[in-house]
Amino acid sequence: MVSVSTPSQKPVPLPAGDDGVSTDVLIVGAGPSGSAAAIHAARAGLEVLLIDAQSFPRDKTCGDGLTPRAVHQLEKLGLAEEITRAYSNRGLKLHGFGGSVEAPWPDSAFGNVGSAMTRASLDNLILRTAGEFGAVTVWESATADTPRFSGSRLESVVVNHAGRRRTVRAGHVIVADGVRSVFGRKLGRIWHRGEVYGIAARSYCPTPYSGEDWIHSHLELRDESGVVQPGYGWIFPLGDGTVNLGCGALSTDSRPAQINTKKLLTFYASQQRPQWRLGTERDVASALLPMGGAVSNVAGPNWMLIGDSAACVNPLNGEGIDYGLETAELAVSLISGGPGRDFTLLWPHVLRENYGEAFLLARTAARALTYPTFLPLVGPIGFRGPLAQLLMPAAARLMGNLITEEDGDIMARLWRGAGAVVAAARRGTPLWDSTVR
Ligand SMILES: Cc1cc2nc3c(=O)[nH]c(=O)nc-3n(C[C@H](O)[C@H](O)[C@H](O)COP(=O)(O)OP(=O)(O)OC[C@H]3O[C@@H](n4cnc5c(N)ncnc54)[C@H](O)[C@@H]3O)c2cc1C
Repeated sequence: MVSVSTPSQKPVPLPAGDDGVSTDVLIVGAGPSGSAAAIHAARAGLEVLLIDAQSFPRDKTCGDGLTPRAVHQLEKLGLAEEITRAYSNRGLKLHGFGGSVEAPWPDSAFGNVGSAMTRASLDNLILRTAGEFGAVTVWESATADTPRFSGSRLESVVVNHAGRRRTVRAGHVIVADGVRSVFGRKLGRIWHRGEVYGIAARSYCPTPYSGEDWIHSHLELRDESGVVQPGYGWIFPLGDGTVNLGCGALSTDSRPAQINTKKLLTFYASQQRPQWRLGTERDVASALLPMGGAVSNVAGPNWMLIGDSAACVNPLNGEGIDYGLETAELAVSLISGGPGRDFTLLWPHVLRENYGEAFLLARTAARALTYPTFLPLVGPIGFRGPLAQLLMPAAARLMGNLITEEDGDIMARLWRGAGAVVAAARRGTPLWDSTVR
């Protein structure tokens, strides 16, 4: 028998062959959220075990877009320069309903440079950077399988690592296991499907215009029979001879989007092919996206869910890398902020404080988009009416997650005011908890 121990607790006998280990922080999942958490934790002087079920580099279904908000977080990790040197963009071009509007990234606290990088490269870069810290041990092909509790405290996690079962005892556990959050579900995480969620597909297409320094979104997304769909298409240049081309639609349980995203993607690519001189789309993949904090049970006394597992995805654009990186930093700051804290209520509270009103408002606006008549009615006003030059840059700012508490301009104040109204009106809606407090 071998055993693991921490100074404060009695050694727990382990089954024969289980060479258990102890660590300050176990991080489950090495996507951007988990690997960023590992870097922040190592910098805070904590010992980290970072595990992922896959081995890297690995693909992840994504649009690969990095808003200035994401670039800002990557800067804190020391990675922004390398990423933006490879490719950077200066804003969003929105198309639809007979119009097109250019919306440069505004000068904000996050800077005004966006980027894009395949997730195979980006995630590998962040993971390898984490692994360079002496305090970080990385296990790839290691799946968190069984949580073991002592009372309500997560005492240890049994990990399947390269064919062996190993018990990991950790002071704290950060769960960053992505959208399906299989391990998070074992801890009690519940996804509220009555709230708006996304279904999206992406592909890679060769093009001579991969250096284009705008990202493009088509808000008038029609299927083959000409019906406007409740979502948008995107073309995100990658600067490497390809673009990430994809489309997403919004759904709720009561109004599921009646589309086949992969088929819609093929149709959208065929529409864009002449202008972008696109080659054949490859690596087509689709995924579901819980959004806007529509999950509950995201924390226990010594564990927290971050990133996609906590549904930290913007309901208006499906972007979540920025929130994944931010929630990683927030979670570590709580852990390193002093011993003896219980995160069960604290973590949902911190998430609501940082994102609650904005996510709830975005979820409410996104819900409007699931009504089939909404976009065909409002779209032409937004793109062609006299308000277009005002509305679309504002929409781009919202779609880029670029309004912060510090912003004092009219649009930011309107957005925050609307957020407060919606939060009051939707009291009781699931928001990282069963109710809004
Ligand atoms: C089609 C699509 C397009 C998108 N486009 C964009 C975009 O352009 N920009 C943007 O910002 N966001 C976009 N998103 C959202 C973005 O992909 C996610 O927000 C982001 O990946 C969140 O990162 P994460 O680290 O939380 O999770 P992930 O990147 O999913 O990482 C989770 C990791 O956990 C590992 N894991 C899972 N279970 C276990 C386990 N039990 N044990 C160990 N490891 C485990 C997985 O192998 C995986 O590596 C898009 C999403 C979709 C579906």
